[in-house]
Formats: sequence, structure tokens, C-alpha cells
Amino acid sequence: MVRLPFIARRSPQDLARLRRMASLFLDRKEFSGAGGFIVDDAIALSVALQACLPILELGIEQYDAFVGIVLHADAVVAEREITDEQGIVHRYDEVLAGEAMEGGPVMLSWADVHPADAADAASGAYNVVIHEFAHVLDMRDGAPDGVPLLSSAKERAAWLAVLTPEYDRFCERVVCGHDTVLDAYAAESPDEFFAVASEGFFVTPGELKEEQPALYRLLASYYRQDPASL
Ligand SMILES: [Zn+2]
Repeated sequence: MVRLPFIARRSPQDLARLRRMASLFLDRKEFSGAGGFIVDDAIALSVALQACLPILELGIEQYDAFVGIVLHADAVVAEREITDEQGIVHRYDEVLAGEAMEGGPVMLSWADVHPADAADAASGAYNVVIHEFAHVLDMRDGAPDGVPLLSSAKERAAWLAVLTPEYDRFCERVVCGHDTVLDAYAAESPDEFFAVASEGFFVTPGELKEEQPALYRLLASYYRQDPASL
């Protein structure tokens, strides 16, 4: 089993279920390495275990919308283009540790999934696998917007009634320069907030629960897990 502390502290029953789900995941998904990167069994298993933790109580079907997972050795530089209000096109490079697109594939940088430096790996709530797969869950109902697929409009409204003020408060704290449990990148947009909050929920749940209890409860009800109690 992968020696990730947030997985290792799970109960033996959870670990057995996680391992079963990860083997289903490995059966259903196709891994490929980009630029000559070799995806061996240990690498695929590590990704599978981390990807399956969020859906342990939700089911493997949550990820049915895509098949491919592309691993790069390192972060990827993507050329981006935006057109501003004056119609001027701006080109810039974006460094990506991972990316999830509607319909897939999910792209991950192995250097970010598995930092060589143990101190990097242990610092903060950062987890690129959980981040990208949270985007996959968010996109089950269309373009990413910080709201995963829920069963009714009423549930969606209830979700936003918690998420929006939590997001706004978070952005204010970032703007004011306060330290936050979640990475400041979460202030980018509600969909990034959901993805980064999901990382925190699974990797540093106690800290997230203390700083943003309403957000923690929202994620606990969605994921049907209470990792802070472990
Ligand atoms: Zn993201």
C-alpha cells in the first residue's frame, strides 16, 4: 500500500475496500505515459488509490465519463490564449501539475503526484490527484462550477448557500494576506475552490474542519466520509 499518511491512517476495513476499488479502477482506466514516461504498476496503483479515496462511499461509476489517464514525468507547460474586452489576444504559458477535461483524459505530472523531496510531500494539503479527480466529479453535471452532480435543484441551491459564503470569506482572507489551510489558488474560482477544498478535506481534514467548519461539513455530507474523526 502506498505510504501516504492520509491513506495509511484509514481503518483496515477502509483500506481493504479502497484496494478493491483501486483494482476495479485499474481494470477500467487506461494509463499512458507522455514523452517516454514509463507508467509501471506501482505508479498506476498509487494514482488509483488516491483517485479512489474520494469515491470510496460514492462508487466507481462516478468516474465513468472518462477512460484515459496521461502521466507526464514533470509539470507541463501549456500555451494559453485569452482575448480581452478590446479583442486583443494575449498569449501566455501556464505550468500545469495536472488537468481534467470534460470527457477526459485526466493529465497528471508524476513529479507533483510523488514529490522526490519528502518534505514537499508532507507539506500542507497539496494533492494533485485528489484535486484533478474533484474536477472530474464537478464536471459530471457539465462545465466545472464548484458544484458536483447533485440529485435536485433544491440540493444545488443548498450547496451554493454554503459554498458561496465560504468561498467569499476565503477570498477575503487571501486578499488580506491571512494564512489559510487551503492554498491561495483556491481563490481563483468556485471550481478551483471545490477542488482545493477536496484536497484539504482528505489530506489535512482536522485543520480544514477547524478553519472552515461549514465547508468541512458540506464536503463530509457529499463524500459521506468524516476523515477528521480518524
Ligand atoms: Zn484545478
